[in-house]
Amino acid sequence: MITSKTTLVGLLGHPVHHSQSPLMHNTAFTSKNLDYAYAAFDVSPHDLPNAVKAIRALGLRGVNVTIPHKVAILPQLDEIDPLAKRIGAVNTVVNENGRLIGYNTDGLGYVRSLIEETNVDLAKQTVTLIGAGGAARAVACTLAESGVQEIRIINRSREKAEQLAGQLRLMTEARVVEQREYQQAVEGGSLLINTTSIGMYPHTDEMPIPAEWLHSGLIVSDLIYNPLQTQLLAEAERAGAKAHSGVGMFINQGALAFELWTGIEAPVDLMRQTVLHHLQQGGN
Ligand code: NAP
Repeated sequence: MITSKTTLVGLLGHPVHHSQSPLMHNTAFTSKNLDYAYAAFDVSPHDLPNAVKAIRALGLRGVNVTIPHKVAILPQLDEIDPLAKRIGAVNTVVNENGRLIGYNTDGLGYVRSLIEETNVDLAKQTVTLIGAGGAARAVACTLAESGVQEIRIINRSREKAEQLAGQLRLMTEARVVEQREYQQAVEGGSLLINTTSIGMYPHTDEMPIPAEWLHSGLIVSDLIYNPLQTQLLAEAERAGAKAHSGVGMFINQGALAFELWTGIEAPVDLMRQTVLHHLQQGGN
């Protein structure tokens, strides 16, 4: 039951009605006997400054931030964690007595999940990254800092890919792939990551690359978790590759946010079971 003593956290996004975060976090708080409650707030871009002021005024412990506010919120915060600054986006805010600190747990959540599920040796990976948007930046910066050998970027718009490659070159070898070399880059890499929304519900039969380019020497990772197995991952398994779904990233970014707000280890297994159960029941 929510009382006057309950600590409030939430999600700022637009839209938010499909979010799994309230269910995942409220289940986690209950299991740890924490008097916390998580609510989703649909905030239009125009209202973001007021919503950030409300975090302080209402005394929320923190928020998650999702599309379209992850970049726009930066100038309104008091401090940005160095990794979030390098990524250029915030997905978690912690309120320390009125001082709002921005973090990005997306990239670390991704890397944690990738290692857990595939046992990958990051130092040996040549990464082919499809996409250069917000999620790609979080994943690529964190992989670069984790010591991968090289990151090759395939993206529809060249400019965004060049911008990301330039930033990554400060940390690792990075380049933009020319269209005529896409197949060669995918076949010659060891870790292929789809960070675009191609294949996401309801367009579940779409793939970012042809299935013929996949082979058994690849780890194929898709940030999408609805559906849990995208067409890309189904084709990867058919080709004998290791498949890694985006649901682990979602759970781990949430677990890291939970730990920033509460200082308590997150019940990751329960959070995973809760989200998987909901998605398997047809939730989206
Ligand atoms: P974003 O900033 O809008 O970036 C989207 C990227 O996908 C851009 O590089 C864009 O290319 C590319 N793209 C989109 N539609 C395309 C199409 N039809 N053909 C070719 N390229 C296309 O979005 P985001 O926040 O990075 O999110 C991307 C995906 O990651 C979404 O599916 C989202 O659900 C998923 N995600 C998952 C998690 C998780 O926890 N698992 C977390 C965050 C995001 P251009 O640069 O050419 O526009």
